[in-house]
Amino acid sequence: MSNNQELFARASQHIPGGVNSPVRAFGSVGGTPRFIARAQGAYVWDAEGKQYIDYVGSWGPAILGHAHPEVVKAVQDAAVNGLSFGAPTEGEIELAELISQRLPSMEKVRLVSSGTEATMSAIRLARGYTGRNKIIKFEGCYHGHADSLLVKAGSGLLTFGNPTSAGVPEDFIRHTLVLDFNNLDAVKAAFAEHGDDIACVIVEPIAGNMNLIKPVSGFLEGLREVCTAHDAVLIFDEVMTGFRAGPQGVQGLSGITPDLTTLAKVIGGGMPVGAFGGRADIMDCIAPLGNVYQAGTLSGNPVAVAAGLVTLKLLDNDAFYTQLAQQTKKLADGLQEVARHHAIPFCTDSVGGMLGLYFSASVPTTYTEVAASRIDLFKQFFHAMLDEGVYWAPSAFEASFTSGAHTDDIIQATLEAADRAFKKVK
Ligand code: PLP
Repeated sequence: MSNNQELFARASQHIPGGVNSPVRAFGSVGGTPRFIARAQGAYVWDAEGKQYIDYVGSWGPAILGHAHPEVVKAVQDAAVNGLSFGAPTEGEIELAELISQRLPSMEKVRLVSSGTEATMSAIRLARGYTGRNKIIKFEGCYHGHADSLLVKAGSGLLTFGNPTSAGVPEDFIRHTLVLDFNNLDAVKAAFAEHGDDIACVIVEPIAGNMNLIKPVSGFLEGLREVCTAHDAVLIFDEVMTGFRAGPQGVQGLSGITPDLTTLAKVIGGGMPVGAFGGRADIMDCIAPLGNVYQAGTLSGNPVAVAAGLVTLKLLDNDAFYTQLAQQTKKLADGLQEVARHHAIPFCTDSVGGMLGLYFSASVPTTYTEVAASRIDLFKQFFHAMLDEGVYWAPSAFEASFTSGAHTDDIIQATLEAADRAFKKVK
């Protein structure tokens, strides 16, 4: 059996930081990342054979639980017929149809292979459609690692203390206006000053990359109104919240219709799939119909699409989401109660299969409030829980994820582990 520490040392020889995505390195919490050998249902097992209850869920995709038998079978069946054709397939049509049915704002859909590709392409499309350059994003919202979006971008960057990545020319980001999440006045002021040159507003309509931060009442409605008034494109980045916050994402929960939506994570069922879509008149600006270029060798990959299709079919079930939200809330309320016994400044929030854990007296509404929380206590809690066999995201700036496989017994076991872990938090 392999050892996590040895694997990390070996990985670090040939992979920068030993990982292929920065937050995996445990940089902000310290210690050795766990190298995962397998996963099933609500559990992952590391290379040393230790079992963990998993609240990372591959950062969102594993909403049915890991290695759901029907998803695995769909992948196996598709693989037998060939791994990639670089030509259109019927499966792609079915996936696009399903997405449009569930999220009617997505009249037309283009499939890509990651969330980053989806947001990057949606931004280019918004610029091409409007003929404008500037974009508005919000501090703490992460939209993937495309240049213009990598400004004050939550999760990984915040975890490592970099507001903006090196290697992004000033010239690129001078077109990115970064405002405070939940501050509609700032959005109105930006439009008053630059309205004629703002192509779009991109927002995580419930933010999950600076912990879990919900929009205050009126914020999303206000974004919709301002964008409509200025002919700017409203983009909901539902890469994380799509098919997870609820059956129709945040647009379903809020009743607000964006012009474009980006998706990934759940729609690939654990395989690399992303999508962007929205109003047909905007989407038809993409090549080959229009002059906004976007393409991908593996876009609509048949094996990935098969995993996504069966996942979305299994999720076509409101009872699933009711149960998921109840279980997540049970966990959120339970953790808060346990922490109260230990007199720790701690609170929680949840929506659908997303959970926020905050080491603060009240639930934050901005990035600044999350940054002011007791991140030192989070680190202690994270390691105490890891010792107890519970795997949370290794960063205080990430939402946690539940799945249909997180049963009452698993939640109870988590709460008992938390009771022991909170004793060690000082
Ligand atoms: N948008 C949001 C809201 C995300 O949470 C993420 C990833 O976590 C992305 C975009 C980028 O997706 P990917 O990592 O698939 O490129």
